[in-house]
Amino acid sequence: MNAAPPSRLRALPSVDEVLRTATGDGLVAHFGRAAATAAVRSALAAARAAVVAGEPASVAEAIAAAAHAALEAAERPSLRPVFNLTGTVLHTNLGRALIAEAAIEAAVAAMRQAVALEFDVAAGRRGERDDHLRGLVCELTGAEDATVVNNNAAAVLLVLNTLAHGREAVVSRGELIEIGGAFRMPDIMARAGARLVEVGTTNRTHLKDYAAALGPETGLLLKVHTSNYRIEGFTTAVPARELATLTRQHGVPLVDDLGSGTLIDLSRYGLAHEPTVREALAAGADVVTFSGDKLLGGPQAGFIVGRRDLVAAVNRNPMKRALRVDKLRLAALEATLRLYRDPDRLAERLPTLRHLARPAAEIAARAARLAPAVAAALGGAASVETTACRSQIGSGALPLETLDSAGLALRPAAPGGRGLAALAASLRALPVPVVGRIRDGALILDLRCLDDEAALLASLAAFAPVAAGGDDSEGDPGGEADGMA
Ligand SMILES: *Cc1c(COP(=O)(O)O)cnc(C)c1O
Repeated sequence: MNAAPPSRLRALPSVDEVLRTATGDGLVAHFGRAAATAAVRSALAAARAAVVAGEPASVAEAIAAAAHAALEAAERPSLRPVFNLTGTVLHTNLGRALIAEAAIEAAVAAMRQAVALEFDVAAGRRGERDDHLRGLVCELTGAEDATVVNNNAAAVLLVLNTLAHGREAVVSRGELIEIGGAFRMPDIMARAGARLVEVGTTNRTHLKDYAAALGPETGLLLKVHTSNYRIEGFTTAVPARELATLTRQHGVPLVDDLGSGTLIDLSRYGLAHEPTVREALAAGADVVTFSGDKLLGGPQAGFIVGRRDLVAAVNRNPMKRALRVDKLRLAALEATLRLYRDPDRLAERLPTLRHLARPAAEIAARAARLAPAVAAALGGAASVETTACRSQIGSGALPLETLDSAGLALRPAAPGGRGLAALAASLRALPVPVVGRIRDGALILDLRCLDDEAALLASLAAFAPVAAGGDDSEGDPGGEADGMA
């Protein structure tokens, strides 16, 4: 190693000198003395290494600026906001449902102050956390009783463990689903301590198949909503109503895992009809499970609703304590459910529904309005054209259903997969990353879920092309990692 020219090393400022610059002073004020000093030390070490490598010594202001950049980068949250322009409304990898303002306010209030989480204020004695939701859920679904846990996977696990531990759980071979993220029905059954009894075949399961499987060892019959795929062609599935008649004869509970579990008829908003929780219960399910952050449009949660004795058994299971939800989510859930009391204004207030119901013409008008500004921001790195496209609902809700939508097709000036990947990377490098999807050699920005045009343009103002890298692949459009680029 070459000895560094001592005079140039000596030309470097001291830590104190850097902290006394205007920028250094600001660092202490903003980040605290300890963090500022540590960052300046690191910046000085880098400057020293640069001198040893033969470069000129940096001045104090430059070192303070380097420390500032490092501190800012370290302060940026890891869980960052992004623009979801993937065209998938309920994108599992991007956090699924956006929360309604009323629910955000309720969660914030629950964070700031003590709340009557397990306290019956009127009676002055201990209450239950489920008390805050039970009435609303029962009112909106017709259930006798309800409880809520961490997510729907937890709801299914808990119900299986409560009703079928050491016993048999009967399920159709056509419904042995994998949701993604290692949630596979047979594995969940095993972990719940239930013995899986498969009936029927992949495409056809008849009532007599179920009837033959029911016996003294049966803990429950499980019906699973095939929410992320559909079996088409020569198929038979037994309607819940017929299953309910059968399970009643045998005195066995019928559990329906609805998955996305909507509370309202979505056909009202131009979407296909997805079975509602009320319909599943009315058809005879004894217990229905569903997610809070799919079509319901709330925070992550799993609902267990249905017969009072069965929900009570679930609540007595010691696992319930390990799967329960905290006050923030209870507050947000309560406020979200309350919005359902006014269906006429639901699409205005619930972001998920607002995005799903947004008319294609409105989105196309937005695309036309934004195209010139986006083209200007990209400064020749890509061409920008308006395009028709199709959004999907996501999170395994209505898997075959797509919605007419519109957006911008960005084609990089440098053609080919590399150029496209680099363009996508440049958009992900923005202060608020923009996530689209790749289709037919273009980066598509579906504008269905864009609420704040000005914020998008503000982020794009920082656009700087990222050099084309190695990845030539196009996004994986299927599964839980819905296509994104
Ligand atoms: C999504 C889904 C689950 C898992 O729900 P989470 O809330 O993601 O835990 C379970 N079953 C079905 C049918 C689903 O669609």
